[in-house]
Amino acid sequence: MEAARVAAKKGHSVTLFETATELGGQLHIAAVPPRKNEICRAIEDLVHAVHTQGVTLKLGQTANIQSILALEPDAVIVAVGASSFIPPIPGIDGKNLYDAWQVLAGKYKVSGRVAVIGGGVVGCETAEYLATQGCKVSIIEMGDQIGGDISVTVLPSMLENYKAYGVEQYTGYMVTSINSGEVNCKDKNGSIAQIPYDYVVIASGARPVVFDTEALSVKGIEVVQVGDCCEVADISYATKKAKH
Ligand SMILES: Cc1cc2nc3c(=O)[nH]c(=O)nc-3n(C[C@H](O)[C@H](O)[C@H](O)COP(=O)(O)OP(=O)(O)OC[C@H]3O[C@@H](n4cnc5c(N)ncnc54)[C@H](O)[C@@H]3O)c2cc1C
Repeated sequence: MEAARVAAKKGHSVTLFETATELGGQLHIAAVPPRKNEICRAIEDLVHAVHTQGVTLKLGQTANIQSILALEPDAVIVAVGASSFIPPIPGIDGKNLYDAWQVLAGKYKVSGRVAVIGGGVVGCETAEYLATQGCKVSIIEMGDQIGGDISVTVLPSMLENYKAYGVEQYTGYMVTSINSGEVNCKDKNGSIAQIPYDYVVIASGARPVVFDTEALSVKGIEVVQVGDCCEVADISYATKKAKH
């Protein structure tokens, strides 16, 4: 949206494809956990801006080489984002295992004992969200601490909520396998933990979505990539890159 807004403001005729029926991408799930509702305003502002700049919207339409070429574009900006990464852990394809993005999007409902695999920003926020929804949450993180990238102004409130809702933290534990009912983990000293669960939520990072633009480049069409599809980062990185 930011790339479309800036290009249209510079006087270009811009068409924006979006697979979903609404604009906003990951921002919709980023806005779900506690204290994150303000992100909805970023979505509203960006949507307002693309409308104001007269960007042609193609919602509910997945762009492909054919639909792009049909527009006879001078340039193509690829901003296809990222997708949740599912690590190759034995048992990861079992029942009652969902990725954090799907859970935050409300596609799947989890309850009871929930083991969250991954204690980065998404894992920590999802754990807090689920705890406030009544789940008994455990976070498993292979690093020495959880929430390493969370702002120091936010982390204390999150940890207070963890205490209030009894969120258990298994730091320094690597998940070795998942059986029906138990997540098996090991720390660097070989000590084993078996964490019982009703649901497992995977929050093990994201990977850029790949969009093959070779067919555009061979026709001499300029192609630029912006946002998470270049490098999985954050709103600031995505929008700054989109401005250039
Ligand atoms: C749970 C969570 C919390 C987060 N919290 C924060 C935060 O607090 N602060 C922060 O700065 N960042 C946060 N982020 C990261 C931030 O949301 C992303 O960095 C940012 O949204 C990336 O924007 P993007 O436009 O590059 O990609 P995306 O938001 O992934 O958007 C890509 C869009 O492209 C569409 N698309 C893909 N392929 C096609 C196609 N072929 N045709 C048409 N449409 C297509 C997708 O449907 C999607 O809507 C969070 C992310 C998550 C998952």
